[in-house]
Amino acid sequence: MIRRISTKLLLAVLAAVVLPFLGFALFVENQMAGRLSKDVVLYSLKGIAADLALRVERDVEEWNASIALLAADPGCYLAVDEAWREESGELEREAPAERRLMRRTQIEQFNHWISARRGYDLFLLVDAQGRLVASSTVGSSGLGLAPEVSAELQARTYEREVWFEAAKAGRAHRVDQHTSPLLPPRNAAAPRSPENFHIGFSAPVVWPEDELQPELSGVFVGAVFALVNWSRVQDELNSPLLKEYFQGLVGPDEFPSAYGWVWKSDADTILAHARTELYGERVSQPPISLPQMTQAALASDWGLYPEYSFDGERKNAAFKHTRSFDDGGFGWIVGVGIDNDDIFRSVGELRALLFKATLAVLLVAVLWTMVIARRTTQPILALREHVQRVAGGDLQARVSVSSGDEVGELAQALNRMTEELEHGREGLIRAQKELAWREMARQVAHDIKNPLTPIQLSIDLCKRAKAERNPQFESILDQTLQIVGRQVSHLREISSDFSALTGARKENFEVLDLAPLIGEVLDLDAAWAQSLGVDLRRSLEPANVRGDRLLLRRVLLNLVSNALEAMPKGGVLEARLRVDGARVVLDLTDSGVGVPAEVRAHLFEPYFTTRSTGTGLGLAIAKRVVEDHGGTIELAAGENGVGTRVRVSLPAAGGAA
Ligand code: ADP
Ligand code: MG
Repeated sequence: MIRRISTKLLLAVLAAVVLPFLGFALFVENQMAGRLSKDVVLYSLKGIAADLALRVERDVEEWNASIALLAADPGCYLAVDEAWREESGELEREAPAERRLMRRTQIEQFNHWISARRGYDLFLLVDAQGRLVASSTVGSSGLGLAPEVSAELQARTYEREVWFEAAKAGRAHRVDQHTSPLLPPRNAAAPRSPENFHIGFSAPVVWPEDELQPELSGVFVGAVFALVNWSRVQDELNSPLLKEYFQGLVGPDEFPSAYGWVWKSDADTILAHARTELYGERVSQPPISLPQMTQAALASDWGLYPEYSFDGERKNAAFKHTRSFDDGGFGWIVGVGIDNDDIFRSVGELRALLFKATLAVLLVAVLWTMVIARRTTQPILALREHVQRVAGGDLQARVSVSSGDEVGELAQALNRMTEELEHGREGLIRAQKELAWREMARQVAHDIKNPLTPIQLSIDLCKRAKAERNPQFESILDQTLQIVGRQVSHLREISSDFSALTGARKENFEVLDLAPLIGEVLDLDAAWAQSLGVDLRRSLEPANVRGDRLLLRRVLLNLVSNALEAMPKGGVLEARLRVDGARVVLDLTDSGVGVPAEVRAHLFEPYFTTRSTGTGLGLAIAKRVVEDHGGTIELAAGENGVGTRVRVSLPAAGGAA
């Protein structure tokens, strides 16, 4: 198929509009995905991990400080002292209620802390032998501990506990996350629920500076131990901070996938997680199996995990170590992660938007181009049709293109041109008609001249005979009258022929014998031939054709006069007519100047003439007439290359003339 203008336009528009747009879209998308989305989110993750780690650290710090404060309270060593003194029988004189005054006060204080401060589940005060002196008696809800739990606490010895040994050595201590045997699980139905886990804090109780008993100053008298419920730590992970931070990624109606976790200092054991069923799982082991995360977390203090897959989601996450055990912390690793889906959500939305916009631009561009193309091509098609009509000869055709652009100008130019062509052709036709008339007039003049010559000669002869008183005058006069009569009737014939020819006569075909017609034409020109010294020879077989006598006579007259005109110094003109099968063939051979071969091709064109008085129409008309009669006419060199032979071949007609 041809490449249409519309196709080209379309391609051009696509190249000019859509490609740059696509490029822009790609560029924007890359920028969004790379810098705007991912980098922003990753840095945020890092920041949030650090924030979270700091919050957890502060909590731990606060618990450390609180227990130290509590252990330094005089109530503690006085309660221990009271217990000693009771044991040694020193207090036997006191009433039973007063014997336990200090311990009851301490229990009150422990209970007060549990109800006043969130997170504490149990306080213990033990003496230097690891025996319980006092413990809180309420749970975190403010209700009392079950009597059997209290009895159990009382019956235990704490001598072997790590925290007790540390206190004995004068150190505060922390017990990492564990399920405490001291209290029944708060949520027995869900063993991995955060509130079933605890962390422990302990501090030594020391006898203060004592001036009365200087030997007791600074002596280790016992320890305070507190259990903090693990849900306090889990709550930090669940704080709205984390979700809120990434809300912008997903919009107001959805929850961002971000969540946090806490790992033990081995960077492997999960202590806290948004999904509590993962409590206690190992990161590097099945079912989690992400050892590269453990490695990353061990490799530095604060950073990003390598991108990973978990639960069928691609994720990115950051971590931050909390203070080490030696530094008053637990050495936990706090992590924060988010699904890539969320990170790239806005990119996805942007991509969808760009995709739709691209489609829309494409659609609009294509439609618009098609409209433009149609508007452009339609006038061009109209022009093409116009040109085809003009080429087909319809000079009346006008093209109507109303557009004011170049095509419109072209259409106007074409219309002007066609108009000029039309006028030109009218002029041409007029000129042609004139020429045709001149040729006709010339022939008629020639036709008329032929009979006039014998009339003139006979009259001259008659005149001379009368003047000479020729005895044969009578017979000469008779002869003259006869000739004049014959020639006059001939003239009449010519004139009627002529008027018949000029009238709009219809073609009038009849079966006629060509031989007498040729004889007649030769007779007509006999006098002319004689004056030139041309020998007329004829061998004419009777040959019937169907044709118009008058037209054929014109043709023959012209052919004979062409031949005579070619022989100004005499020669031979031979006319041969024969029937050759289904055709009648006339050969007119002269010994004249001949026709150069290169000219021969043009002879039958109208207005081709080598004569100053010629019209150049004779052979053109002859060809037209002969062809109208179903025949052919050709012009060749004469015998031995001398002169010219004109051959007319017509279909033979059966039947008599
Ligand atoms: P015209 O006779 O008016 O010149 P024609 O169409 O009859 O026009 O002839 C065209 C030309 O053909 C003549 O001018 C002449 O040069 C050439 N021609 C025609 N017949 C002959 C012939 N028998 N011999 C030589 N030339 C001829
Ligand atoms: Mg001629």
